Amino acid sequence: MEDRFMSLDPTEIRHRLHAEPELSGQEVATARRIAEWLEEAGATRIVTSLGGHGVAGIFAAECPGPRVMFRAELDALPIGETAEVAWRSKCEHVAHSCGHDGHMATLLGLAQRLSKNPPAYGETVLLFQPSEETGRGARGVVESSRFEEIAPDHIFALHNLPGEPLGEVSVRSGAFTCASRGLIVRLNGVCTHAAHPEQGRNPALAMCRILQGLKRLPQQLPDDQGLVMVTLIHARLGEVAFGTSPGQAEVMATLRTEDDAMMRALAEAAVSLARVEAEEDDLGIEIDWCDVFQATHNHPRAVEAIREEVEALALPLRELSAAHRWSEDFGWLAAQGEGALLTLGSGEQCHPLHHPSYDFPDAMLTPGIDLFERLVRRYQGSA
Ligand SMILES: [Zn+2]
Ligand SMILES: [Zn+2]
Repeated sequence: MEDRFMSLDPTEIRHRLHAEPELSGQEVATARRIAEWLEEAGATRIVTSLGGHGVAGIFAAECPGPRVMFRAELDALPIGETAEVAWRSKCEHVAHSCGHDGHMATLLGLAQRLSKNPPAYGETVLLFQPSEETGRGARGVVESSRFEEIAPDHIFALHNLPGEPLGEVSVRSGAFTCASRGLIVRLNGVCTHAAHPEQGRNPALAMCRILQGLKRLPQQLPDDQGLVMVTLIHARLGEVAFGTSPGQAEVMATLRTEDDAMMRALAEAAVSLARVEAEEDDLGIEIDWCDVFQATHNHPRAVEAIREEVEALALPLRELSAAHRWSEDFGWLAAQGEGALLTLGSGEQCHPLHHPSYDFPDAMLTPGIDLFERLVRRYQGSA
């Protein structure tokens, strides 16, 4: 029998979540446990099955007012944990190496405070979204038939950020994280005996031209919309068989931009480049996209609210001069209200995100909970 939720402190909550991680799209037990805890904290309503296993707890005050949402993520990563901690993952090759356990514990710590000191008006929504790591979760939540029940006026999320001073908040108005998407190009020729390559259609040279062309694409696009980047991540030609001239090739790249319109332009340019090169050598072509993230745009008023509350708490604050290059699927949710994503420093000596020894520092829980609680009081007061 588990201890009562209200008697657990946020550190214990995080350790329990950390020990039992689940992969994107499979967050069944985590979601169930969170729904139970939200119920114990006295949530007015609990909405489940949001975009998969997503769950939201709604704390509604008697008086009408704004709906303020905070977002955490349920999913862990397919990584074998190497951290030597008592709460290390009990699941082989699954670990909370992105610190989503810490984000969940922050929202659950906030739930405990709302339970003890409910807001005076409006609704606080604590959303635990699924599948952040694959870029599918937030979009799934927004497109879910039950999203209307939780659609926010204001929405906030934090992500922990190793390499920055512990507890330092960083913000930026406008683009905060980049749009990114994975491109897969498959070239279909005809394989034949290596002694008679002229009888087949070998995609080797088209593959090389596509790789080089993709690498050069950013220079051919306007540079006034911030970062435009292509990273070649994988290429494969035929099989290891010296007697065969191959008929198949595959190229994969990650496209990254600060601006969503620029992403559309870059994606179009990449597709047309691949088609031209395939046609040149009379090859069939298939194109697929995966891990599609839109940019996260922070609303200036939401950022201003964070700045003021961070100052009131006397936490260190940093203004970013450019968007982070990485992507977050929070962009889908941020666009649903006045939204902002912030980062909270996890310490200069901390392992990087997705590192097998990464473990969310517990010292970040209180500043995160304090900041989110101040945002609740700002919009919804105290009863
Ligand atoms: Zn991650
Ligand atoms: Zn993450």
